[in-house]
Amino acid sequence: MKAIRVHQCGGPEALIYEEVLLPEPGPGEVRVKVEAAGVNYIDTYHRTGLYPLPTPFTLGMEGAGVVDIVAPDVTLVKPGDRVAWCMARGAYAEYAVVPANKMVPIPATITTEIAAALILQGMTAHYLALSTYPLKPGDTALIHAAAGGVGSLLVQVAKRAGATVYGTVGSEDKAELARQAGADEVILYREDDFEAEVQRLTGGRGVDVVYDSVGATTFDKSLNCLRPRGLLALFGQSSGPVPLFNLQVLNQKGSLFVTRPTLGHYIQDRRELISRAGDVFIWAAGGELAVRIDRTLPLSQAAEAHRLLESRQTAGKVLLLPNE
Ligand code: NDP
Repeated sequence: MKAIRVHQCGGPEALIYEEVLLPEPGPGEVRVKVEAAGVNYIDTYHRTGLYPLPTPFTLGMEGAGVVDIVAPDVTLVKPGDRVAWCMARGAYAEYAVVPANKMVPIPATITTEIAAALILQGMTAHYLALSTYPLKPGDTALIHAAAGGVGSLLVQVAKRAGATVYGTVGSEDKAELARQAGADEVILYREDDFEAEVQRLTGGRGVDVVYDSVGATTFDKSLNCLRPRGLLALFGQSSGPVPLFNLQVLNQKGSLFVTRPTLGHYIQDRRELISRAGDVFIWAAGGELAVRIDRTLPLSQAAEAHRLLESRQTAGKVLLLPNE
């Protein structure tokens, strides 16, 4: 079968489209014929070595398709089932072997592509808005990269929870998309000082929570956007990792809270996984959560997908399709 593998970490050119052996499921595992693999920022961290992995490895933390075969001890799914999964590596391939307990059945009401586009970023938006800082009516939230894959979903889940949402984006086109997602105010943070804008919009109070996926270039000012005892959820680093940080700053800026959450810790067991994915899929099926597929590309063009994502040219989800 064909797969995208990394032999030596580096830029997008490190993604090699090559023939590999069809993987066999071990105990507790399932082999899935992949119909769509989601492209996520974490894939770029694996590719560059920011999150180190032993080489060679097959990329991809999110996918959806049809169960092909299952190990004898697997009862959760059976061949022919439509499933989606995330947080197990190997989705950039024609077939992926995944632990059965990561499988989420896809409801008949949504397509396999939508499931692949939603499961990782949708559950991320779900835990950030409903668990990390459980938003309620009257809360104010600042969401960076509000037209991005996670960002546009997070805006929608935050609005659904009743919050007032301020979004930052890198271009006018993205501003329009963030507004469509429901953002109350949108700030072009490459032109305008988002800290000053948030202070103006909140009458100097600051927001209750900042959801920051951008990292290096936004972190310091994100802290300045918070009200006393507000919370910064630093959940990504699209502009680079945040440097070492003096905790005393949290005292000086208002007894602030900072957390660095990750999806794996918010889908700790199968009950939590099925509950979060179930919500997200039901909302999507009912038209309450819109996932924007920015584009689909053949699996062989994974390097191009990474170039687009890293150069801020995408707004929403990028999918790789092995069958194209
Ligand atoms: P996005 O679709 O949000 O793409 C990244 C966006 O970040 C860009 O489109 C751009 O939007 C913005 N950005 C700002 N500065 C830069 C920069 N210097 N280089 C590149 N992009 C920049 O990606 P994802 O939705 O896949 O992921 C967003 C972030 O969330 C990532 O950092 C990822 O690691 C993190 N994440 C964390 C999870 C967790 O559980 N902790 C789970 C999933 C994702 P604009 O042009 O509007 O500025």
